Amino acid sequence: MTTEPAPERRVATAARLLAAATGDRLRRGFPLARLTSFRLGGPAALYLEAETDGDLAAASAAVAESGVPWTVIGKGSNLLVSDRGFPGLVLRLGKGFRWAGRDGVRLLAGGAMPLPALAGVGLTHSLAGLEFGVAIPASLGGAVRMNAGAHDHSVSEVLESIEVYSIPGGSRSMVRASDAGFAYRRSSLPDGSVVIGAVAKLRPGHPDAIRAEMEAARSWRRATQPLAEPNCGSVFKNPLGDHAARLVEAAGGKAMSVGAGSAGRRRSVRGPPGDGGAACRRFRPGIHLAGGRSGRSRSRSPSPPGEGGGRCCR
Ligand SMILES: Cc1cc2nc3c(=O)[nH]c(=O)nc-3n(C[C@H](O)[C@H](O)[C@H](O)COP(=O)(O)OP(=O)(O)OC[C@H]3O[C@@H](n4cnc5c(N)ncnc54)[C@H](O)[C@@H]3O)c2cc1C
Repeated sequence: MTTEPAPERRVATAARLLAAATGDRLRRGFPLARLTSFRLGGPAALYLEAETDGDLAAASAAVAESGVPWTVIGKGSNLLVSDRGFPGLVLRLGKGFRWAGRDGVRLLAGGAMPLPALAGVGLTHSLAGLEFGVAIPASLGGAVRMNAGAHDHSVSEVLESIEVYSIPGGSRSMVRASDAGFAYRRSSLPDGSVVIGAVAKLRPGHPDAIRAEMEAARSWRRATQPLAEPNCGSVFKNPLGDHAARLVEAAGGKAMSVGAGSAGRRRSVRGPPGDGGAACRRFRPGIHLAGGRSGRSRSRSPSPPGEGGGRCCR
């Protein structure tokens, strides 16, 4: 009879292998709250900021050999981390994957490139098509994974190809955007895919028009979201033909607060004030209650992160 190694054994094995490859860059018991826009949740058993393919290869080998659970995060703007933290390896792409370049009407960029910065690179080269992304606080990797979008546009419209690193396969490959299974705020990349880069095909535009569209997107954001407070933007997906914010408001959900969280006077769900330390378990009920109330007032109910909208690190 074969028995599965205990979770602690897997973490210990992965830690040993990864520390041999990455030294003290491997962190243990690393607090995740500060890496999320909600500022909530517990620590990662292991945390590595990957700077090179070599780091990803080391992570891949450690996962393959130890069987430790793993996940990848970007800018943490769609993550609700459990109070228990994450009992395995959390990867995040570091500066080595934060780059962008231009080839004609195409922008090529690394997975850690912030989406707003990439939109800015488009403006620099008078390339239009990414203006909608100027105020979405995503990394390119997270934006691809979630098919981020706003103002009736989404990244899948401009993406041509996506470069992924497979864990535990340990190899790079290109996925055509048409094969990435994009739908509203989701993609269906193969399991274990870390988005390490992507190619977006834009179109020539006039800088004044691009700049004006970006400013309109920023103004809308300032008017609709409490940017100075911990939040995750629009926590609910819009149901077909309607707006989640309207449903929550109609159900009286915007005035509610439960535990540490509230639906917010504007359109987003707000986290508690402060920087970490607050409990996810006191916050989730607010999301569920706001969604549930609007679901009762309408037959379609919005979905909170962890249930289609994003990822909850349990
Ligand atoms: C104030 C605010 C406003 C927002 N406005 C919008 C909006 O207008 N439109 C919109 O679509 N979203 C919006 N969001 C949500 C969020 O910005 C998007 O979902 C974004 O795509 C998440 O990107 P991220 O880098 O923060 O990913 P994270 O939140 O870190 O992760 C989200 C998911 O992507 C996965 N992931 C992250 N990086 C990678 C990678 N390199 N490879 C593979 N998978 C990866 C994670 O495992 C997780 O499943 C908003 C959030 C906030 C806080």
